[in-house]
Amino acid sequence: MPKVLIIEDELNIAELERDYLEVYGFDSDIATTGEEGLKQAKVNTYDLILLDFMLPDADGFELCKELRKTLDIPILMVTARKEDIDKIRGFDRGADDYIVKPFNPNELVAPVKAHIARYDRLINREQKQNIIQIRGLVIHSGSRQVFINGEEKTFTAKEFDLLHFLGTNPNIVFTKEHLFERIWGYDSTGDNTTVTVHIRKIREKIEEDPSNPQYIETIWGVGYRFKK
Ligand code: CA
Repeated sequence: MPKVLIIEDELNIAELERDYLEVYGFDSDIATTGEEGLKQAKVNTYDLILLDFMLPDADGFELCKELRKTLDIPILMVTARKEDIDKIRGFDRGADDYIVKPFNPNELVAPVKAHIARYDRLINREQKQNIIQIRGLVIHSGSRQVFINGEEKTFTAKEFDLLHFLGTNPNIVFTKEHLFERIWGYDSTGDNTTVTVHIRKIREKIEEDPSNPQYIETIWGVGYRFKK
């Protein structure tokens, strides 16, 4: 189901947008401030963003620019003021389209559908599916990037490989031997403590409290399990 992020400070409008979209089979999340919107856009995967031009804590253009730093998905500006339209049209590398308030269901849903369909043609689905997301943790397989609650963390090659392997095989217990062979290979020097050391380093980066891990659990006497 396509998912839309609605960034809109007026809750009644945000809910109206959500309801209209729901009828047409779109799922949506609502963020009522620019800051919250940015955060949600970083930790979740969306197909399109509906961005209110006038937010109390953010300028629509600035927020759009910020979102564009990491996102390629269509961004549709929503404005109540006709005088904003020319500005939005003239804004380079920003919004893909605009919607004028008040709108009827079709005026909202038609451009949303059209932009999502166009974007899907541009980016193949496979590339989008290369993202593993578990709660606040996002792992990008292609670019080998890891984000925790929207913040990017730096990983060594082996740390990434280990986290990626566990993340793609959630809820399965792996022994240290298995993980070592899988990530380092039979011929590598090192032993199971290499795995322990790497798990500790990964936890320091992704866990709020590494001594009480929420992602990678220790199964005593056996190994590790990625909790989904
Ligand atoms: Ca507003």
